[in-house]
Amino acid sequence: MENIKTINLHTYLKTYPDENGMFGEFGGMHVDENLQKAMREVDDAYNTICKSRQFIAELRRIREEYQGRPTPVYHAERLSKSLGNVQIYLKREDLNYTGAHKLNHCMGEVLLAKYMGKTKVIGETGAGQHGLALATAAAYFDLECDIYMGEVDMKKQSSNVAKMELLGAKVKRVTQGRATLKDAVDAAFAAYLNEYETALYCIGSVVGPHPFPKMVRDFQTVIGTEAKEQFYNMTGELPDTIVACVGGGSNSIGFFLPFIEDPVEIIGVESIGEGKETGKHSASMSFGEPGVMHGFNSYMLKDEQGNPAPAHSVASGLDYPSIGPEHAFLRKLGRTKYDYITDEEAVEAFYLLAKLEGIIPALESAHAVAYAIKLAKQRKTGSILVNLSGRGDKDVDYVLEHYKK
Ligand SMILES: *Cc1c(COP(=O)(O)O)cnc(C)c1O
Repeated sequence: MENIKTINLHTYLKTYPDENGMFGEFGGMHVDENLQKAMREVDDAYNTICKSRQFIAELRRIREEYQGRPTPVYHAERLSKSLGNVQIYLKREDLNYTGAHKLNHCMGEVLLAKYMGKTKVIGETGAGQHGLALATAAAYFDLECDIYMGEVDMKKQSSNVAKMELLGAKVKRVTQGRATLKDAVDAAFAAYLNEYETALYCIGSVVGPHPFPKMVRDFQTVIGTEAKEQFYNMTGELPDTIVACVGGGSNSIGFFLPFIEDPVEIIGVESIGEGKETGKHSASMSFGEPGVMHGFNSYMLKDEQGNPAPAHSVASGLDYPSIGPEHAFLRKLGRTKYDYITDEEAVEAFYLLAKLEGIIPALESAHAVAYAIKLAKQRKTGSILVNLSGRGDKDVDYVLEHYKK
């Protein structure tokens, strides 16, 4: 295997994944034959369309005029000062339209659907964040949109259900299994298999069968590309360390990749929830085993029978029992590291950032902030650039009810 330190980013992006969707031993297309055929079609279309001048120009215009990109990099001076001498900077994906990074790949995926001549997009959602972003993109492009959602999640997130319907999407109730995210993914794939000639499946992270991990990461690299240039323009150098939270791994991979050729330490932060010993966590990189779920091979948390274990995190966007295959690959190459933060540490960071900087972070993003806070306390100097993946309006009621100060 090539030494990654000598690889340039352009070569890396062209080499990985290979045409079968493999990042080394991770990834792939572990789905039945019919779905493989559909995935190959999507892959072929994507490879052609994504290079066309028209597609690139349209996506660029949407990012500027509709999403409000570039999002800024912000020097969190009061937070930094309260911790010592290390300087903390935030890439403000919370200011991306709809309040998180997810619209970056949804706009790309639905634009692809339009270029492929599809009339509908299909997706799944857990807490509703991906469903909302996809429904927004579908409304923008005037395509039909079916969102599969577990009945249990629909009850918990009724305001997100209402918003998706307001945007013109159909929310499809899933009652099978535990009636949560995993079952919604299964139901959405089953529906897609019947409709793939007229519909495109749009996944919510860098997971699933090839080509999704590749497509979603390509659309998300806008975060790291912008952040690197912005940070350099502000400080005249690159950050010493970059940190992002990891659920399926999309905001982190998009933030990390543009830095992989640089002398920058890269750390992904998972949720250890209520602690390893309680089993209530979602740290699949730290405590998972190799395995296949949802069509790809990576690390995953397993129960005694070897099935995907239920995952937990105070941040619903992080409670996924596996992780995108490219993360597993980059760790094996020694280029990225993974660590974790507890529910309580994340909530602590949520309060601190609100108070010191006037920024209420998503609980997912608060994991990355909490980790940066820990590092800043340990170190004497240096800089840390954190990807603030989303804003925390959606979490305020929950935090105040369960963690009132
Ligand atoms: C969905 C979500 C995440 C987790 O997803 P990734 O694919 O790991 O990025 C993180 N932060 C926010 C704000 C989210 O909405």
